[in-house]
Amino acid sequence: MSELNVVSISKAQLPADPFVARHLIDGGWRQSADGATFERVSPSHGTVVTRAAKGGIRDVDAAVAAARQAFDKGRWSRTSGKDRATLLLKIADLIDRERERIAFLETLESGKPIAQAKAEIEGAADIWRFAASLARTMHGESHNSLGPDMLGLVLKEPVGVVSIITPWNFPFLIVSQKLPFALAAGCTAVIKPSEMTPATTVILGELCLEAGIPAGVVNIVLGYGDPVGTAMTTDKRVDMVTFTGSTGVGKAIVKAASGTLKKVSLELGGKNPQVIFPDADKASAVDAVVFGVYFNAGECCNSGSRIIVHEDIAEEFLKRTVELSRKVPFGDPLDPSTKVGAIITPEHQGKIEKYVRDAENAGATVRLGGGALEVPGLSGQFYQPTVVADVRSDMPIAREEVFGPVLSVLTFRTLEEAIDLVNDADYGLSAGVWSENVHTCMEFARRARAGTVWTNTWMDGFAELPFGGVEESGQGRELGKYGLEEFLEAKTVTMRIGRTRTPWVDPQVA
Ligand code: NAD
Repeated sequence: MSELNVVSISKAQLPADPFVARHLIDGGWRQSADGATFERVSPSHGTVVTRAAKGGIRDVDAAVAAARQAFDKGRWSRTSGKDRATLLLKIADLIDRERERIAFLETLESGKPIAQAKAEIEGAADIWRFAASLARTMHGESHNSLGPDMLGLVLKEPVGVVSIITPWNFPFLIVSQKLPFALAAGCTAVIKPSEMTPATTVILGELCLEAGIPAGVVNIVLGYGDPVGTAMTTDKRVDMVTFTGSTGVGKAIVKAASGTLKKVSLELGGKNPQVIFPDADKASAVDAVVFGVYFNAGECCNSGSRIIVHEDIAEEFLKRTVELSRKVPFGDPLDPSTKVGAIITPEHQGKIEKYVRDAENAGATVRLGGGALEVPGLSGQFYQPTVVADVRSDMPIAREEVFGPVLSVLTFRTLEEAIDLVNDADYGLSAGVWSENVHTCMEFARRARAGTVWTNTWMDGFAELPFGGVEESGQGRELGKYGLEEFLEAKTVTMRIGRTRTPWVDPQVA
């Protein structure tokens, strides 16, 4: 184990009492109708971080009723873009003010490193500001060339009541990729964070109230997929569901929402390849591969969990990747120097382990790691940085989300072969190419089936650029102007200006 870079227990103080999380319904904080609660235990420190209200059907019913009423009464949907933008900007400032507190709870609930959590909260505030700019600039179309007496207008209107369901891996960032866009559009919302990470969404609710968001516009129901998530996707009064999470649950949501034909937007999983050509800048590529696979302990939809390396450089590239992997600081998430923290649950750690053992049994070679990581002083679960070579594209480790710090290495000889391997997948979230030849990069970008392609970089994200997947990675887009469009309907208004309409029935006929 000494050959890995392990950061042991930090000096940070753990909170004396758990964070108390309640539902936000119609502008007030409420316990569950039946008084039920649940606890979230830190995956790194083993202490209870949060004690939360455990929602049921009656809580969802009340939250949806509040969101419906707030929408229908126009408390938010009929305000001006300027007024909405002003509030979104206020919330962004409050997020900045509360950054340390939010990051601390996010780290304790999710096991992610504190430095990363702070950067995510900062990024989230930036997204709120970007969404504010969209609230003021959104507009429809006018058609002034339909004939001398006609004018056509396309009005952009908010979809209505939106159910927002989020996962545990980037709780605050993901709700911030949805809620400010829904609010900018004029929608009202019912939010369900993951049962693993409820605290920071509750803090966001506090900040919305402090900024002056009217009662019923933002509602939060805490609890599990069943019954809270299910009720949020089947309720007739909900117009749209926006979901980020696993492909399996995404498919279940599409089915559940079909009964009332809701609009569904899905951000799902990925098995994202990076292709490395012999002319690549190797130092940058190795660093990006190591970042891509270990960032957020690999519990990331964008995890660069399979690399496809040209045969001529594969062995050298693999050695450099293993060498750099040993230097990545894994360990206590509360230590500011840690880059990789804990695994979300013991059950999930078991799944990661099984992928690695199954790959080994099928002929792959574990070149680094491949087991639990002991972090002195901490009782939670951690996994070693792991590099698996001799992987074939038919192995589950090359096709499915491992969602752990585990890299699969495949090889190729020609561009055609590389593209075939990239596209031989059920997912289509993101893909990357490393080459100094712009034509290689461009051909790759055009042919890779993915919602995002990175050339000579990995996982750079901007509020201005849309994000989303194709195939089993989802439908719809977040961020950019497309992120707003998801929450808008087009309404056509056709106007006849003069009294020129030819009667359909001749009134003179006897
Ligand atoms: P998950 O699908 O298990 O849960 C996501 C959310 O759905 C949680 O809030 C959960 O309580 C809720 N849920 C569960 N069952 C439900 C049901 N039947 N109806 C309604 N809601 C239900 O996902 P997870 O384990 O929290 O997150 C990891 C997954 O999220 C990975 O697959 C990852 O790739 C994906 N993800 C995708 C993106 C993206 O932008 N594409 C980003 C982050 C995570």
